[in-house]
Amino acid sequence: MAEHESLEFGKADFVLLDTVSMEEFMANLKLRFEKGRIYSYIGEVVVSVNPYRAMNIYGRDTIEQYKGRELYERPPHLFAIADAAYKAMKRRNKDTCIVISGESGAGKTEASKYIMQYIAAITNPNQRAEVERVKNMLLKSNCVLEAFGNAKTNRNDNSSRFGKYMDINFDFKGDPIGGHINNYLLEKVSGWLGFHIICVFHLQLLSGAPDSLLHSLHIKKDPKAYTYIKIGGQIKITYVKLLVVKSSWCFCCFLQGNLTFGVDGDVTLIENTKQVSVIRDLLSTKEENVEKALLYRTVATGRDVIEKQHTTQEASYGRDALAKAMYERLFCWIVGRINDIIEVKNYDARIHGKNTVIGVLDIYGFEIFQNNSFEQFCINYCNEKLQQLFIQLVLKQEQEEYQREGIPWKHIDYFNNQIIVDLVEQQHKGIFSILDEACMNVGKVTDEVFLQGLDVKLAKHAHFSSRKLSPTDKSLEFDRDFRIRHYAGDVAYSVVGFIDKNKDTLFQDFKRLLYNSSNPVLKGMWPEGKLRITEVTKRPLTAATLFKNSMILLVENLASKEPYYVRCIKPNDVKSPLLFEHERCRHQVEYLGLLENVRVRRAGFAYRQTYPRFLQRYKMISEFTWPNHDLPSDKEAVKKLLQGCRFDHDVAYGKTKVFIRTPRTLFSLEEQRAEM
Ligand code: ATP
Ligand code: MG
Repeated sequence: MAEHESLEFGKADFVLLDTVSMEEFMANLKLRFEKGRIYSYIGEVVVSVNPYRAMNIYGRDTIEQYKGRELYERPPHLFAIADAAYKAMKRRNKDTCIVISGESGAGKTEASKYIMQYIAAITNPNQRAEVERVKNMLLKSNCVLEAFGNAKTNRNDNSSRFGKYMDINFDFKGDPIGGHINNYLLEKVSGWLGFHIICVFHLQLLSGAPDSLLHSLHIKKDPKAYTYIKIGGQIKITYVKLLVVKSSWCFCCFLQGNLTFGVDGDVTLIENTKQVSVIRDLLSTKEENVEKALLYRTVATGRDVIEKQHTTQEASYGRDALAKAMYERLFCWIVGRINDIIEVKNYDARIHGKNTVIGVLDIYGFEIFQNNSFEQFCINYCNEKLQQLFIQLVLKQEQEEYQREGIPWKHIDYFNNQIIVDLVEQQHKGIFSILDEACMNVGKVTDEVFLQGLDVKLAKHAHFSSRKLSPTDKSLEFDRDFRIRHYAGDVAYSVVGFIDKNKDTLFQDFKRLLYNSSNPVLKGMWPEGKLRITEVTKRPLTAATLFKNSMILLVENLASKEPYYVRCIKPNDVKSPLLFEHERCRHQVEYLGLLENVRVRRAGFAYRQTYPRFLQRYKMISEFTWPNHDLPSDKEAVKKLLQGCRFDHDVAYGKTKVFIRTPRTLFSLEEQRAEM
């Protein structure tokens, strides 16, 4: 336990609460927040409350205090968990990962940056130039990603609109040698209009960039000239140069916002044709191609290929879909380039030993809004998956191991959310499958068809309901709503937009347009534009399927590593450093499952080790075991050793392993060992 704190700051570890109840938990959390103690533990899980003010706890001196220490030796801190993950990796050659979760604005991204900074600070004691270079790149990659992937929202001025998983690779010395980033579901729909980069171009770049550059990019100096620019943000970007060069086509997004359509008789036309030549320049393509792609759609009917004119509505829809798709591809392309730069090079495991990894996951927490749509559905599914992983790793494995080892175990009742994971992702029967099926319907493809599919197939599911299935349910406001009983609470989703968002709605004509660009980078982003219309036979994978597949891979990856958790809590909605909104926090504690976590932790043992390995480490502290023991078994020897230290009350002896309840005992053993 973190003993270096006086009790006036509350209990540093929730495991030490006198009784485990929501009231006590909340009282302790509040007390600590008010005393400026933003971090606490549940065993090895860090609970963090966003302080909304600069804290003087991340400097060099604090880093030194945590370096190489055990978790329970110092007050709770992110650095302690980062150190634990690092030590486990280095000492035991284990891949580890740090999963950071919490709702928007809770402090996940800040936490991930402090963790990275800590790891950067404690590695490379020999100042090897190559390692310094790698560290620098890993830290700086954040700036670029944030510029393109973060936006100002009403919940957070610097909200990540994508989930991020970053691996840091280490060599046998424990120094970083590279990394890799995976990004998940960039929010395309509402937030993207406010992406920082878009504001930054105007607020910072424009003020300093030479007119010739602005001219070549067709940028007007007055932000008012652009329909898409609504919000400004004061974000400092030092990598503007890179951004300018690499993202010129990003401007297309704005320009298209200014592109409007009209009709003349029964002909749809572009009203401001001057914009078309600008787009042509930026996309390095031909003017007539741009025009055609915006106004017509090529369709194959049997062996005939015809060109169908868009209505103004279809044309506007196509334009917006193009802008969004371009932004998404650009973002993925940037992630790809960053990966090219940071990935491990010239590392031969046969010579240098195993290359180990620490993964850091900064991913959106559970979301419940006034109006929940496809994005919230995906995000909440992601959280169900992560909760399932947590259950498997922490709760289930724990119980199963005690049973296996024959150690008495008080059964802990916890809700296993696998049933909800299945409800969403199961083949043929799950919501994603029903959605995909609705999208494949020929003819009538509407959100309502999807809802009907849900009603038919999920009528009996305990975690699903809709207006049709429960007409008196007040939480379902509209006919188009359905509700999922998530582990974290009930969420009503509106089916409006599900079909569109799930389908790859970008007309093939645009893909061909971009593929035929003479700009090789742009061309490279659109490989599927190569296909002729008659060759396009396979449907592209749907957004739901792509997301599901990426989540399954993510969870598999995390499951193969030793996990550490950071649970972030947002204390209020007004970014105040003083306000602890009780109900708001209680709700988060609930859906982060923190109370269950405390229960399991208290019932359990902090540390366990097989008898031979335990002896190997501690046999020098007892006369009965040093240098060798003559007892009938290693188990007997460990018993004798621990009885000698009077720790017998704090341990349990399993079939193959010894279990130690509190970290304090382990700490004393370590101390005695060090004194030898
Ligand atoms: P989203 O899901 O929207 O990306 P998030 O959980 O990543 O949200 P952050 O961007 O990390 O949230 O934090 C939001 C804001 O809260 C930060 O911009 C910062 O002002 C403040 N904040 C978070 N953590 C800290 C901290 N440890 N110290 C000081 N301020 C913090
Ligand atoms: Mg974030």
